[in-house]
Amino acid sequence: MSFQSLNIIDPLSRAIAKEGYTKPTPIQMQAIPYLLEGKDLMGIAQTGTGKTAAFVLPILQRMAAEIKTVMPGSPRVLVLAPTRELAAQIDHSFATYGQFLRFKHTAIFGGVSQVPQVRILSRGVDILVATPGRLLDLMNQGFIKLKSVEYFVLDEMDRMLDMGFVKDMRKIVSALPQKRQSLFFSATPNRQTDEFACKLLDNAVRVDAGPQESALDRIDQSVFFVDQVNKDRLLQDLFEKKEMSRVLVFTRTKHRADKVALKLGKSKIRAAAIHGNKSQVQRTRAMQDFKSGRIQVLVATDIAARGIDVDDITHIINYDLPNEPENYVHRIGRTARAGARGVAYSFCEADERDYLRGIERFARIKIGAAEHQYHSERAKNATGAAARPPAPQRSRAILRNARPNKPGPHPIHTVRRAS
Ligand code: AMP
Repeated sequence: MSFQSLNIIDPLSRAIAKEGYTKPTPIQMQAIPYLLEGKDLMGIAQTGTGKTAAFVLPILQRMAAEIKTVMPGSPRVLVLAPTRELAAQIDHSFATYGQFLRFKHTAIFGGVSQVPQVRILSRGVDILVATPGRLLDLMNQGFIKLKSVEYFVLDEMDRMLDMGFVKDMRKIVSALPQKRQSLFFSATPNRQTDEFACKLLDNAVRVDAGPQESALDRIDQSVFFVDQVNKDRLLQDLFEKKEMSRVLVFTRTKHRADKVALKLGKSKIRAAAIHGNKSQVQRTRAMQDFKSGRIQVLVATDIAARGIDVDDITHIINYDLPNEPENYVHRIGRTARAGARGVAYSFCEADERDYLRGIERFARIKIGAAEHQYHSERAKNATGAAARPPAPQRSRAILRNARPNKPGPHPIHTVRRAS
């Protein structure tokens, strides 16, 4: 089945083509026809299955058929997501797929000042993506009214219930108009999600993309337990030993992205870094060079990587593990696109050990450990405080820079295997 047979309107088809999608994923194939008819839906789909486009595309299409002027703080679409990262990613998807339409959208979440969020809301937005806490907060202050909501999406509903958002969700739902289209998505169905859905969905269809459809299954994943001081050597080693033609390396900080790209360059590996401190011109050039094969490696932070739409990435290397587990899935999803296979290597030092545990729990996978000459038992076995970055997190990069190259107060036991 093609996107044409789903009767997607031209501005959306163009955006899909620009993203390089050739055919809909199973969840998109199953959900889009019902959603275009205006039906409520319970979708069972994990991150990585293309579920975001499965709801964003039909919502945009239905909205485009009935353009309305939005009042300040009164969106037509409300999407609830459990975390700020997911909210930002969904908002980004509305921007990507809606680039040839003229809808205003924004994401709101806690942990940052509400002032810019309130300013955007006061100008009126068609689409609001929110985490429950900040949404309720701004509703209570009178900045948001839900009486104009026509489309209501609950993404990762199972996680939201797990995280104890049930009361918040009930309050939010009670402020919604009765007449609306509701779409719920959950990675795994369980009694709690079913009960919640039963009460709130009206004559809904259920579509199940199943866990087997995830792109994650097509990615060869392995973890390299390594001490921070050896990460560069390990990276170098991988380039010497493996056939890696188009590689995307992820770091947690901009500073580290620059450093890694520089180090690779010194070893005659053609690399560039992209992150928020680079100008648009620099980013575009790096992306073009990466696409054309002029450079072999792109080093990116999570935020900068959102705009990367390059097929045929053969390897993802997580030089640093992401601190948000879903970012792992988004990162490695850059390979294995459109049915291809891919490889993802993750470096894990001692104080990233808990991140790895979180990723394995979140994605319900066990990532096999690779054998290599810089293997660190200390990283592999770290628990408790040793398995987390030193607090406070914000000074992590500074601390790292200040650390001597030699082992610090904690002895580093590196097992070097003969290779
Ligand atoms: P999601 O499950 O929504 O997080 O999407 C996972 C990844 O699949 C994202 O990087 C999307 O850009 C990509 N994607 C979504 N739909 C398609 C499609 N029809 N063909 C290829 N890739 C897609």
